[in-house]
Amino acid sequence: MRHIDRLTEPSILSKKKEEWTKKFIESGRERPDNSKYGHLEIHVLLGAMSFHKCFYCETMLKGTPKEIDHFIEVVENKELAFEWTNLYLACDNCNDKLPNRIIDTSDVLNPCRHTDEEIKTHLTFEDEVISSKNNSILGLRTIQKYKLDSGKLDYLRGIALKRFHQELIKIQQNQIQENGRSMNEQEREKLRQFTQRNQPYSLMFEILLEKYQI
Ligand SMILES: [Zn+2]
Repeated sequence: MRHIDRLTEPSILSKKKEEWTKKFIESGRERPDNSKYGHLEIHVLLGAMSFHKCFYCETMLKGTPKEIDHFIEVVENKELAFEWTNLYLACDNCNDKLPNRIIDTSDVLNPCRHTDEEIKTHLTFEDEVISSKNNSILGLRTIQKYKLDSGKLDYLRGIALKRFHQELIKIQQNQIQENGRSMNEQEREKLRQFTQRNQPYSLMFEILLEKYQI
């Protein structure tokens, strides 16, 4: 999870949300119409905000199942069904989250509210395995709610980690061949690429690079 800056509300919502919300509440239905909150304009803007990654786990969403997620579930508050600040983008792993009655959204990290520094105070990684930092309850609840420790995410983070290690080993081999010189700026930059916000699992790599002091 990384902090995400929310862009301005798309015009389709400014124009339609009042009408859509009213109709949805009057209909008495449990779920809002996903063809409305899943409008292309909304999808595109959420994707632009997160560099096409899941808001919670940073999995790249291009070509994978992705869904628009209500941060506060509609069943808790129907008024928020078409509320821009309540719409997030999630992979199928994280969208299958634990309901609010089990873990409330007020007890978890929120990528649109918490800063990177705050997120890093509560979440950490040992290789591809995520854990709560310093026994943080907020970190633990976040992992539990979005299943950030699922086997699927471990597997995907493991693949990304392997690419990083291959790059690192290549650099280390060059260092050995060149009389054990230290890592140059260009090589550091290559590894730092993994921590860029548009990269998958960038928080994991940021923590890893801090550990390696790169
Ligand atoms: Zn996810």
